[in-house]
Amino acid sequence: MPETEHVPRNALFGKYEIGRLLGCGAFAKVYHARDVRTGISVAVKVINKKRLTNPNLTTSIKREISIMSRLNHHFIVKLYEVLATKTKIYVVMEFVKGGELFAKVAKARFSEELSRKYFQQLITAVRYCHNHGIFHRDLKPENLLLDENGNLKVSDFGLSAVTDQIRADGMLHTLCGTPAYVAPEVLSKKGYDGAKVDVWSCGVILFVLHVGYLPFNDPNLMVMYKKIYKGEFRCPKWMSSDTKRFLSRLLDTNPETRITIDEILKDPWFKEGYNEPTFQE
Ligand code: ADP
Ligand code: MG
Repeated sequence: MPETEHVPRNALFGKYEIGRLLGCGAFAKVYHARDVRTGISVAVKVINKKRLTNPNLTTSIKREISIMSRLNHHFIVKLYEVLATKTKIYVVMEFVKGGELFAKVAKARFSEELSRKYFQQLITAVRYCHNHGIFHRDLKPENLLLDENGNLKVSDFGLSAVTDQIRADGMLHTLCGTPAYVAPEVLSKKGYDGAKVDVWSCGVILFVLHVGYLPFNDPNLMVMYKKIYKGEFRCPKWMSSDTKRFLSRLLDTNPETRITIDEILKDPWFKEGYNEPTFQE
């Protein structure tokens, strides 16, 4: 990271006191911070405007951020506010304590039951956002956090508008670069439907949770792209036939025939043990 990305400890901007670095993402650094009036912990994502092709927050980004800050869902990281200075954008959000879900799966793959639990929470969150006209388009392990009760919190919903600007100048591909979660229709740059793209990524995530490795992978990016285009993946022998069937509906390369969120909710694999969320949506 260039020097300019650095935010000194205890720097005050507006009402937040910046603390320790929580993590580095593909396009930003995330810090722990404290609201000095209330003492409440928050997480602050700092994006350097130099990395945006258009340094002004465009109307569409502002619109998306204002929708996001009005959303309120149990399984989604709450966006509090977005502040901007000449050089930086600060995205202030709920602080999530439990770390990344994938730190857990890296130790051992999950049983069908546990994979289903997280998948159900993921789909509940994704569905809520889609119903409000917000698509994630960048669902991947780093964006799945765990709260103190072991429930999922999806982060970065609505921020794809910002990320797109960085992607445009190639930053995302060169720095973080994994297309492993990206739907084939995005790779072929044909223009795509955000809802269908999110469903594909959820399929890749489910595979990783249950199997412990990526469905489409290769050290050579072009080979990985090819596998994604072709939808070429192999389920291990031990996997139940119903899980295999369900995964093949999610990882359908044709966005027209790929399972939709509404169909997922009706699918027997998904429905098993599913309790409609009792909290208010
Ligand atoms: P990017 O979107 O730039 O890739 P991420 O959203 O992946 O950045 O954030 C980088 C890391 O910071 C995450 O992997 C996670 O460890 C940490 N992080 C992000 N948001 C939060 C949050 N709300 N609470 C706690 N930690 C967070
Ligand atoms: Mg992220």
